[in-house]
Amino acid sequence: MNRPRPVEFFDTGQDGGRAAPGAEIVPGIVPLVLPLDFGPKRVTCWLLRDGDGWTVVDCGADTPGIRRIWADVLRGELGGDVRRIVATHGHVDHVGHAGPLWEATGRPPFLMTRTEWLSASLRGAMAGRPARGDGGDFFRLHGVPEAELPDFTAMPAALGALAPLPDRFVRIAEGDVLRIGGRHWRVLTAGGHAPEHAALYCAEEALLIAGDQVLPRITPFVGVFPAEPEADPLGEFLAALDRFGALAEETLVLPAHGPAFRGLHARLAQLRAHHDARLSEIAALAAQPVSAYRIAAQVFPRAMAGGHRRLALAETLAHLNLLCGTGRMARRRGTDGGVVFLAA
Ligand SMILES: [Zn+2]
Repeated sequence: MNRPRPVEFFDTGQDGGRAAPGAEIVPGIVPLVLPLDFGPKRVTCWLLRDGDGWTVVDCGADTPGIRRIWADVLRGELGGDVRRIVATHGHVDHVGHAGPLWEATGRPPFLMTRTEWLSASLRGAMAGRPARGDGGDFFRLHGVPEAELPDFTAMPAALGALAPLPDRFVRIAEGDVLRIGGRHWRVLTAGGHAPEHAALYCAEEALLIAGDQVLPRITPFVGVFPAEPEADPLGEFLAALDRFGALAEETLVLPAHGPAFRGLHARLAQLRAHHDARLSEIAALAAQPVSAYRIAAQVFPRAMAGGHRRLALAETLAHLNLLCGTGRMARRRGTDGGVVFLAA
């Protein structure tokens, strides 16, 4: 990782324009940029020529706009011949439209890691039948005022764009090699952003279909939620950055949000520096015992004032859990019975 080259962007096309498959980035690899009504605003699916058909990586959310675009794409460029669908992970912007796309393309093999398959299926099933407890006590414990609790416990609106998933999948796991077209793609799994996110690496040509694990312009979201309050997703995410650092410096990264880019090592260093700075910032805010809610309000004032409070608190807790796990912070009960954090 010494002297990484700077990050250099490539145009993936359609920035703000009408979505249709863009120009090949390299032979046989075509981006399809789809509009989102939430979060990162656009998601890029990667279409890989696969013999006389295609393998599709990621599907977008199930929104009217994306349904229309896929219908056009299947009628036009892809000729309906999708041989395989691969999902990098189970978030709505990646698998929301997987079920309808699978159906429309004749139910081809649907490839996903097992944990992502399970968590996305569970997310869909739970939307109509939530688990006992709504996470309210978790948020209360971390200092969320009673009046704001509904903002934290409400089902995320984006889940409305998760259509029923295909009822079966083909498991992919760390180290598997997929042959797609003439290329070999090694599966690299990582935690942090999602529990078992899969990226695909083609060593011969130094190509990385990165999903959300390494993004060029935004930091992948890493958060702790009520279902696993003691999780350390940031520790997993940072460990994955180290492992991706072993990939070739000249790797062309094909991410799910933002333009394709070269400069993988520089970007990994930026992501690590971002989290290191945030860890120090949060540790400094806990010189006196303080709740996660109050820290989140200082670190993410805009998100905490607007509609992203749940995510801002989740991201704060990811940093706090790592700080506690590495001894830089201690967790204890405050005078009001809630959890407070104190820098060591
Ligand atoms: Zn995403």
